[in-house]
Amino acid sequence: MVDDPDTTLYPAGLKLSGRRVVVLGGGRVAQRRIPSLLDAGAVVHVISPAVTPVVEGYARTGEIIWVPRGYRPGDLEGAWYVVVATDDKVANEAASTEAEALRVFCVRSDDALAATAWTPAVGRHGSLTVAVLGGRDPRRSVSVRDSVMTRIRDGEIAAPKDRERRAGVVLVGAGPGDPDLITVAGRRALQEADVVVTDRLAPQRLLDELSPEVEVVDATKLPRGRAASQEALNELIVERALAGKSVVRLKGGDPFVFGRGFEEALACARAGVACRVVPGVTSATSVPGLAGVPVTHRGVAHDFVVASGHLAPGHPDSLVDWAALGRMRGTLVLLMAIENLEPIAASLVAGGRSPETAVAVVQDGSLASERRLFATLGTVSEALAENAVHPPAVVVVGEVVEVARRLAATS
Ligand code: SAH
Repeated sequence: MVDDPDTTLYPAGLKLSGRRVVVLGGGRVAQRRIPSLLDAGAVVHVISPAVTPVVEGYARTGEIIWVPRGYRPGDLEGAWYVVVATDDKVANEAASTEAEALRVFCVRSDDALAATAWTPAVGRHGSLTVAVLGGRDPRRSVSVRDSVMTRIRDGEIAAPKDRERRAGVVLVGAGPGDPDLITVAGRRALQEADVVVTDRLAPQRLLDELSPEVEVVDATKLPRGRAASQEALNELIVERALAGKSVVRLKGGDPFVFGRGFEEALACARAGVACRVVPGVTSATSVPGLAGVPVTHRGVAHDFVVASGHLAPGHPDSLVDWAALGRMRGTLVLLMAIENLEPIAASLVAGGRSPETAVAVVQDGSLASERRLFATLGTVSEALAENAVHPPAVVVVGEVVEVARRLAATS
């Protein structure tokens, strides 16, 4: 039952591309409305004696036209849509009256009932737009919009795939393991995928959300040794993409941090397959961060180095200058270093780093099974053995660990 014709709106999606839209006012409301008007391609004229620095920025880059004065009758000439958002009630009224006379729809931040259009709470997911008008209570529309968008992103509400999507490969960083730590773009790519190629570090729960017709390939099950399986993997993603599929290569952390992601990007390039990257939250900074260890801290560490420990110091293929890392003063973050931590710690000490330097080891960061261990460069190998630490784990070496421990001890 519709009970109030004044608050029962007729929803429509406006095509504003290339069309003049007048925004009266340059404050917070105007600032919030401008980005989506620009996304829609509107030619935005902001009329206001003063504007926020953000709005001024739009004017400087030529994205909007700023007329630095108050409203004058006639300003709405040629406009398709008007946003009235000044704190001058008289000007708002006058502009509103002009809009009415010109039959231009007009939103008003000061008086929704006097407006002829209302701004919905908007969410976008690919080419899908969700717009919610919640009666006179904007918080209601925002909260409904948020819960609908969360469900769409989590796959609880099916948003059938965009038919215009292109075949190709998307290298998606899945984050350190907690499925909440994938990016919004990563989740969207997953939902639009025909094929998902995953590995050990990619969160299982993200795969559980995929619809049944999506082909899931476990990269660790591809045949033969490590080098050969990377070859097979490259071939597989290229072959599926050439067959017209949208392929997501889901990788732990960030695809380009020790993830061999770029080898896959190169394989795509060689085969003429479109490939794009959705960066991820790397374990190198997030796993320490979740354990309360900042990789930099003012006055303590102004540099951090991330190194792979998968080859022991002295290994002929190692490209890491362990002696130089021993001389550094800032934070050293080691990935894939658990198996070689004893010779690594020894090399760092030999290079000059004090055996008293604090070390944190975080296993299974962001997962329910997360474990943290604190030691020093001199004691860490023994501590690892005693505590049966196993990969995946991140090792952080440096004074930031000490600072974090001091904070933890006082709280
Ligand atoms: N591309 C990944 C790193 C791949 S190398 C990223 O950006 O995070 C694999 C190494 O990452 C593991 O050996 C471990 O050192 C680290 N790692 C990844 N996920 C981890 C987690 N949840 N907890 C601890 N270490 C993790």
